Amino acid sequence: MKRSFFDEDHDLFREVVQEFDAREVAPHYAQWDADHLMDRTLWTAAGEQGLLGLTVPEEFGGAGMADYRFRTVMDEEFAARNHLGVALAFHLHDDMVLPHLLAYASEDLKARVLPGMVSGELITSIAMTEPGAGSDLRGIRTKAIRDGDDWLISGQKTFIGNGLSGDAALVLARTDGGTGRGKHDSFSLFFVEKTSGYSVGRQLDKMGLRASDTVELFFDQVRVPSAQLVGEVGRGLEYCAAQLPQGRLAIAVASSAVARATYTHTLRYVGERNAFGERVVDFQNTQFVLADLLTEIEATEAYVDQAVHAFNRGELDAQDAAKVKLFASERVKTVTDRCLQLHGGYGYILEYPVAQAFLGARLLSIFGGTSEIMRSVIGSELSRIAGGTGRSNRGGRA
Ligand SMILES: Cc1cc2nc3c(=O)[nH]c(=O)nc-3n(C[C@H](O)[C@H](O)[C@H](O)COP(=O)(O)OP(=O)(O)OC[C@H]3O[C@@H](n4cnc5c(N)ncnc54)[C@H](O)[C@@H]3O)c2cc1C
Repeated sequence: MKRSFFDEDHDLFREVVQEFDAREVAPHYAQWDADHLMDRTLWTAAGEQGLLGLTVPEEFGGAGMADYRFRTVMDEEFAARNHLGVALAFHLHDDMVLPHLLAYASEDLKARVLPGMVSGELITSIAMTEPGAGSDLRGIRTKAIRDGDDWLISGQKTFIGNGLSGDAALVLARTDGGTGRGKHDSFSLFFVEKTSGYSVGRQLDKMGLRASDTVELFFDQVRVPSAQLVGEVGRGLEYCAAQLPQGRLAIAVASSAVARATYTHTLRYVGERNAFGERVVDFQNTQFVLADLLTEIEATEAYVDQAVHAFNRGELDAQDAAKVKLFASERVKTVTDRCLQLHGGYGYILEYPVAQAFLGARLLSIFGGTSEIMRSVIGSELSRIAGGTGRSNRGGRA
């Protein structure tokens, strides 16, 4: 089915991203994958090309391009070349950290950090998850204690993407002095730069998306000026909940892009591979599998496109974002699994794009809130509609 989603500006932008990938990503990606770390020059090159911080207003060095279809183009192009690690790293910086700063940071903090985020000289990560708390953010233990005009932050985070390559993290910390599970107003957000007491732990050995670094972070009495409190004290969880739809939309977009790219690689493969004197694509089973997958992919694209339009209109709420993330991230697992099967033994070999896509796709229904938490978010709304309290969602990531 013809997809009427992009216009000429997006097509031109697509050419820019393709050229960028060929020049700055493709020659290095295998090495980054082996190193579990991308080169910093990727970020500054992306900044120069205008690929970072698209939504940042011009006064802070950005392009002020709020249309999320441009971000969709980037994911599609990185996925098409099996460079999803780049998409993930940019996603954390642009879709997770940036929206919080744009919405809640003081003008001074914005003026200080946004130009660097746009130029790629300041790489950021989002540090919410801890060893003991992921889905349930009210269980986090990292604490921030006032010390004069500053805050002292202590604690540990894990699974932090861009944590090694990054210069600063947006940290969710407990600020009410309490222990045990916190309340909705027990937490605050801080923009924490790498400084004394801020250390990076071990690199986590991920099964896929290895080019993007993922680490543990440790904070030992890290001194953070009050100016780096993002928004107001006690509103951190509320801010995270308000900005999560963008992060979840981003994962849905990436899921849809990976599904399409994997299908395209697979169609090419089965058209070239022979068995029993025939091309694999000529077996009826292959055609039936691909027919099912293409139908699912087009349905996913249509749903995700609709969610992007809703986001652009400012109408994508928490439930709709959860639904589209749930749907797309579960579909891409089926698509990559069935495409891998159509490759036979080569599907299991990492030099084939389908093997890497399979491993990378497995993350998409876990991070940014698991599929179970997405169901919980959707379910709590159903409970409310049915006249209940709507409290079935226990996940702090709602
Ligand atoms: C590669 C990678 C990158 C990541 N990047 C980041 C990052 O940059 N920053 C960051 O802060 N975090 C990051 N994360 C963390 C990610 O968001 C969490 O792993 C995820 O939210 C799940 O939390 P958890 O791992 O603690 O699982 P748990 O919360 O321990 O969940 C375990 C299981 O219990 C289920 N479960 C939990 N609660 C409920 C419930 N109420 N009802 C039903 N089932 C439930 C879950 O769905 C899951 O199946 C990353 C994770 C990975 C793997």
